[in-house]
Amino acid sequence: MKILLVLYDGGKSAEEEPRLLGTTENKLGISKWLADQGHELVTTSDKEGSGSEFRKHIVDADILITTPFHPGYLTREVMDTAKQLKLAVTAGVGSDHIDLDAANERKITVAEVTGSNVVSVAEHVVMTILSAVRNFIPAHEQVMNGGWDVAAIARNAFDLEGKVVGTLGCGRIGYRVLQRLKPFDCAELLYYDYAPLPKEASDAVGCKRVEDRDEFLKRCDVITVNTPLHAETKGMINKEFLSKLKKGCFLINTARGALAVAEDVAEALESGQINFYGGDVWYPQPAPGDHPWRSMRNHLKGGNGMTPHYSGTTLDAQRRYAEGTQEILKRFFNGEKQEPANLIVENGEYATKAYGQRNTKTEEAKEQVRTD
Ligand code: NAD
Repeated sequence: MKILLVLYDGGKSAEEEPRLLGTTENKLGISKWLADQGHELVTTSDKEGSGSEFRKHIVDADILITTPFHPGYLTREVMDTAKQLKLAVTAGVGSDHIDLDAANERKITVAEVTGSNVVSVAEHVVMTILSAVRNFIPAHEQVMNGGWDVAAIARNAFDLEGKVVGTLGCGRIGYRVLQRLKPFDCAELLYYDYAPLPKEASDAVGCKRVEDRDEFLKRCDVITVNTPLHAETKGMINKEFLSKLKKGCFLINTARGALAVAEDVAEALESGQINFYGGDVWYPQPAPGDHPWRSMRNHLKGGNGMTPHYSGTTLDAQRRYAEGTQEILKRFFNGEKQEPANLIVENGEYATKAYGQRNTKTEEAKEQVRTD
């Protein structure tokens, strides 16, 4: 079979660090394994535009593997040219770079390595929340630049203790963020999601569900966004959403860049409606040099906690999603059933409620949040 692997280039870093598996150099550690079985592997980072290697090789590829960090966007138009494609694997979590309805129509299976980096992202969120509330980034920049002005930093530094923190979307990542925040003695840990957590899960972290989204937005001092990108959530962080937040809210989005309208976020930060915006996800990726989130700041010249998309691609996460991808391929080659939690679409139907028919989500499905 022909397998097309779209990854980011690791360059010198990948040569020096073989554990950087998610790079074009190290090929998820599966190139020899595939060659030994007689499969053809084509690896590229060149993914944009009709003349790209991605577009050239997708036409006769049987399997596409890509990551959310440097996604080969499998649009309906691209799929129309991909006549042999049977399986699209996301080495990581989040398959919104694929037109899932179009994949369903063509009976292309979409699978991801569910859970592979959820702890990695949850830790990044906790780090970003603390950096935000305590005004850490401007403080660090100040000393690196030779300065010393305690008051300029302390005027916008707070404790996390006593603040109301909420997750918008309380699945695997959102729940893990709340779990990790429990010892900080926040005033309240809240969540907004379609379905309630099992009682045992919410009791374990002492969190409360808020059923009305506007009420949730109004109550939180800090919000972490953990919903998948789908038709309903695309662009949801817009002027209207931002105007409903408590003034000076700290907003963290490690879910997907396209959940937000970039200019609206920059404007809200500059006007003081939000005190901070941070996270690691952008649209498109790689982010262009003039993306507003590269330079936006609040009126005190801080408030920007953006990084390149790396929260879910720590070396530990890379090992897990590389192993998970190999397992998905092994099952596919052997004609075995995939792990149900890894399936996004199969046989022309959604196999998950995360991207589609979410209102019917059951408590049973929600139980996976803790057990995956
Ligand atoms: P999950 O499927 O376990 O949880 C998602 C939750 O969001 C579900 O409980 C679902 O009911 C809820 N939800 C969906 N739409 C919603 C809406 N409109 N309002 C409220 N809740 C809604 O997924 P997860 O593993 O927690 O991952 C969440 C997302 O995080 C992924 O889809 C992906 O986009 C992103 N992610 C980012 C990185 C990174 O490196 N930054 C890594 C992994 C995942």
